[in-house]
Amino acid sequence: MLRGATIVAGVVFVMALVGILSRPLGALAPVWPANAVLVGLLVRRPRLVTPLAWLAAFVAYAAADLVTGSEPGLALLLAFANVVGVTVAYLSFRRLPAKHRRLEEPRSLAYLFLVSGAAALAASLVGSLAGPVYLAAPWHRMVRLWFVAEFVNYTVLLSVVLTAPTVRPGAWRERRASEAPGMARWYPLLAVVAATVLGMLLDGYGAIAVPVPALLWCAIRYRFFPTALVTAGYSMAMLTLLSQRASEGGTSIASLALGLLAVVGAPLTLNLVQRQNAELMQRLSRAVNHDALTGVLSRRALGQRFQEALARCRAEGASAAALVLDLDRFKTVNDRYGHAVGDEVLVRFARAVSEPLRSEDLLGRLGGEEFVALLPGLEHEEAVAVAERIRGTVERLRMPIDGHEVACTVSIGVATATADGLPEDWRELVQAADQAMYEAKESGRNRVASVALWPAAPSPSELDTV
Ligand code: GH3
Ligand code: MG
Ligand code: MG
Repeated sequence: MLRGATIVAGVVFVMALVGILSRPLGALAPVWPANAVLVGLLVRRPRLVTPLAWLAAFVAYAAADLVTGSEPGLALLLAFANVVGVTVAYLSFRRLPAKHRRLEEPRSLAYLFLVSGAAALAASLVGSLAGPVYLAAPWHRMVRLWFVAEFVNYTVLLSVVLTAPTVRPGAWRERRASEAPGMARWYPLLAVVAATVLGMLLDGYGAIAVPVPALLWCAIRYRFFPTALVTAGYSMAMLTLLSQRASEGGTSIASLALGLLAVVGAPLTLNLVQRQNAELMQRLSRAVNHDALTGVLSRRALGQRFQEALARCRAEGASAAALVLDLDRFKTVNDRYGHAVGDEVLVRFARAVSEPLRSEDLLGRLGGEEFVALLPGLEHEEAVAVAERIRGTVERLRMPIDGHEVACTVSIGVATATADGLPEDWRELVQAADQAMYEAKESGRNRVASVALWPAAPSPSELDTV
């Protein structure tokens, strides 16, 4: 508990100093990372949340103001306002489902905006009492400034802190490998920096919008966390610029800061929408390429995958084996126990067959109770031994389903060819295995029959029957 409170106090103190030191003389700190970082820390590490930690946070806020020369009364009031805001944000996040706390969906951003707005409002209502009492500024004016600055800070910094990856050895290298190679990876970031600087140099109201295209480019190219990081950097630069203008008696910072919030929402939303679409596409492609019942390759996918695997074998000079597996007298399983039990048998059969296979082996469902496997690199005897092992495993399988103990056997046909004799069309190899499977059936079932294809090959007219 003491260690947790120390961590909280340390983080708050350092982050509050960063905020205080970044503020223009006498004005509110436009960049105030302490609150968002503390909320993020507590949301991600709920074990840190203890009464002592809250006290430590309060003391650390006040201490940061005191060591930088604030009056004790003002320091205590500001510390209290910050703790009130953090409490509102923390309690709101705790009520949300975990996926929204991790900002995984576009809707999570709506919650982030709501929570940030509520926390900013609570903190600004309390903290702005300092205006008339200590700073000779009207309360309502200070509420407005405090609210918008805090709103932007919470939103952009929480999007970073809530999604920051936990440090894991090797993770950085993996991530680098998966992103665009070389300099190209940095172009969207450089574009944001250039556009932000350009906007600041040109000055005026348009400054906040100049980096929008570059921010959208980041959103398309990067994951959420780097996008949030870049967005946060841009927001903090703009907030600093805007507050300087405001302290020089210039523009209405409140409306510009709210505009900034709207700008920031676009790349973050785009990134999450894009991620959601990518996940949807992945699920869709999985559904299309895999058999809904057993999870092995679907009839549609296995053709392409088999063809590719055979081409690889031919290129590498490796042999290959095809196995056609057909459950014996499966109709009687359905007749005796019902279709649902039959389905479950198919699921367990597919699992039992796929378990001993290597990652480069392919297993698919040809249809009904007929499956097919492609084993790249296997010689004839090895393939027959694998088939024999599978046959034995299935024979020993006892499947307790719905109060019945179901057993079944399988007949397997094996066809192999060395690299020179591998057919151009995957269906030739499977056709040969299918013929061997029928031989296994005819010779009594629960058997393995095999054929070494090379150099003979069946005529192409037979292919369509597979
Ligand atoms: P054999 O030993 O000659 O292969 O006999 P069999 O009964 O297994 O072969 P047959 O081709 O006559 O029957 C296959 C049966 O498989 C018919 C059908 O009821 C059943 N079947 C096909 N697809 C499914 C499925 O998805 N679920 C279930 N439960 N049964 C299926
Ligand atoms: Mg059968
Ligand atoms: Mg069959």
